[in-house]
Amino acid sequence: MQPDTALIYLRISANRTSEHASIQQQRDDCTALAARLGYIRTVEFVDEAVSAYGERTRPGYQQLLQRIAVAPATVVVWHLDRLYRRPNELEQLLDLLDTSQVRIEAVQGGSFDLNRHEGRLFARQLVAFANYESAHRGARVARAQQQRAGRGLLHGGSHYGYQHNGALEPFQAGIVRQIVDDYLIGLSPTAIAHELTRDGVPAPRGGKWNGTTVSEILTSDRLHHRRFHRPTANLIVAIWDQLISDDESTLVQLGLLLPPRDASRSSTTLLGGILRCRGCGRRLVAGVTRFGRRIYSCRTALARCPGPTLDACQMDEQITIAAVEQFSHAWRPHVPPPEELLQTIRTAREDLASFAISFGAGRLDHNGYLTMRDPLDRVLTVGGIGFAAHRQARVLRLATAEFHHRWATSLPFRRAVICALLPDLDGTSPLEPRADLSG
Ligand SMILES: [Zn+2]
Repeated sequence: MQPDTALIYLRISANRTSEHASIQQQRDDCTALAARLGYIRTVEFVDEAVSAYGERTRPGYQQLLQRIAVAPATVVVWHLDRLYRRPNELEQLLDLLDTSQVRIEAVQGGSFDLNRHEGRLFARQLVAFANYESAHRGARVARAQQQRAGRGLLHGGSHYGYQHNGALEPFQAGIVRQIVDDYLIGLSPTAIAHELTRDGVPAPRGGKWNGTTVSEILTSDRLHHRRFHRPTANLIVAIWDQLISDDESTLVQLGLLLPPRDASRSSTTLLGGILRCRGCGRRLVAGVTRFGRRIYSCRTALARCPGPTLDACQMDEQITIAAVEQFSHAWRPHVPPPEELLQTIRTAREDLASFAISFGAGRLDHNGYLTMRDPLDRVLTVGGIGFAAHRQARVLRLATAEFHHRWATSLPFRRAVICALLPDLDGTSPLEPRADLSG
């Protein structure tokens, strides 16, 4: 990819007439913006009449992702909502950033550097809000279901983990229990799905598990033992068996509200995307030198970063020793009350979303947006630290035999444990005392 070429992505959605901008109008605006930014050439990726909410894939978007994957790129769109509407589409895009640099320029609403924390956070706010809206718009509850709801019963049909009478189904309930336990020590839904498939556990509808199925279980009302009477939106006392404790339910909801951690992304190496660069603070990526030596390096900074390149074998060995040693100490981190954490984070997220909407709609300028956002950002950071303390505590409560078995057999488990017990590794010695970890 030549640096003087911008990638233009155009999409028209069939079902959102209020935001309607024709392909030609988007094209004209995007081309003009690319020219203003100094790009001489443009390459277009177009999806026409594809609803972002349908099951159909967007071929133009997929081609765009493939281009981004191979080289640094600038993507020009008419509005951010052309690019992704569902959280998993954004995460797919962010996943690519481990190996590439992507800058997003939008005709409406300014530019976002998705390689930077604030750009990612902002993009996630927007997509979370769009998704929330669409889920509510699409909600249609049948009369019979409402009546069941009114009596505190599960929806009709089968429910993974439960029998028809609302009692637990022992095998499936055990799997759900495992999913919750793994999620709360830091495994991502995708990693959990891989592990279940690897262990030969059949998915709810047969075949392989995927991240979406795991996420559906984690977000389900039946897991959180809550039921709403749709016409009144009143909470009804659920009368089916409870599978997890109230605190665990609160922590799962908290985890789903906080931005996913970079380190929760899948990787085939122990520390890729986990170690931070001592020079610039970015996450290091794994690679292999032309002499075949495995390394972790700060490749995303395009050679301008003075940060060191680390020998991967040596780092893996050193961090493994440190993590296992932390586990064997059996210390107890201080954990803040889950319900308090959840309320604080929920309020901050709602405020952030409304500021982001105001900014996107032009009612708030960039400086005004930053001023409103910064204190909330800090609230989220503190909340993230509180949630991390719970992850630490849960890892430390694992039975010794189980810990060592899973350490030996599961890479996602090792990565989760390292993130929980040794946060913010920067490639200096991880063998420091744990005093600074438990705050
Ligand atoms: Zn660096």
